Amino acid sequence: MNDPAAFASTSALAARFAEQRARLERAARAAGRAPESVRLLAVSKKHPAETIRAAYAIGQRDFGENYVQELVEKAEALRDLRDLRWHLIGHLQSNKAKSVAPFVHSVQSVGSVALVSELGKRVRTRRAVELGALDVLVEVNVGDESSKSGCSIASAREIVDAIDAEEGLRLRGLMTIPPAVDDASGSRPFFDELARLRDELGGAARLPELSMGMSHDADIAIAAGATCVRIGTALFGAR
Ligand SMILES: *Cc1c(COP(=O)(O)O)cnc(C)c1O
Repeated sequence: MNDPAAFASTSALAARFAEQRARLERAARAAGRAPESVRLLAVSKKHPAETIRAAYAIGQRDFGENYVQELVEKAEALRDLRDLRWHLIGHLQSNKAKSVAPFVHSVQSVGSVALVSELGKRVRTRRAVELGALDVLVEVNVGDESSKSGCSIASAREIVDAIDAEEGLRLRGLMTIPPAVDDASGSRPFFDELARLRDELGGAARLPELSMGMSHDADIAIAAGATCVRIGTALFGAR
């Protein structure tokens, strides 16, 4: 790379990825789990496409975005990176499902049966051979907060069953964002609750993925069984 500033920022980014990967590996080993059982989803919302390109260049493939418009624009700008996988982790309105269903690898934020049917319908226009089924996770509002999207614990079963019934959707697991707490260990009961709900709904055979844990509480989530941690700030800096 000829531009010294760009090189400096790429090496800083590489250092942060290495640091976070080491952190996740430590947490997995401490929990008696295989490090490969935890995937790092790099949350790139509000950071430019060129930052994502730099993260791709150092080996990252899975990126999480929150906003449909932003995701569509970045996917367009980075369409030459054929094996980059996009994951929608923010609230999705049914009328926007058609914008993302054709190209995203997963939607982790499904919280209603209505959205399940809309995604099922829209996924039929997908580049089927290339991408296959759309991976779907049910977002559960474990803290029962009115400010958060996601379904209630009580309605998760109905949504999980609806996903199973949609041919183009592949049921993968559960996702949650726990209530904000002062100390990261305060997230633990909510992560445990998601794991308990997974067991109740058929266990890891039916729901292999538990997407939980962010920059401040990823270690706690891994101790509670997370298979996917969604990290933004610790990799890309403040937004
Ligand atoms: C923004 C966001 C993250 C990343 O949070 P950080 O604290 O920046 O690591 C993870 N998951 C969801 C759903 C988000 O919206």
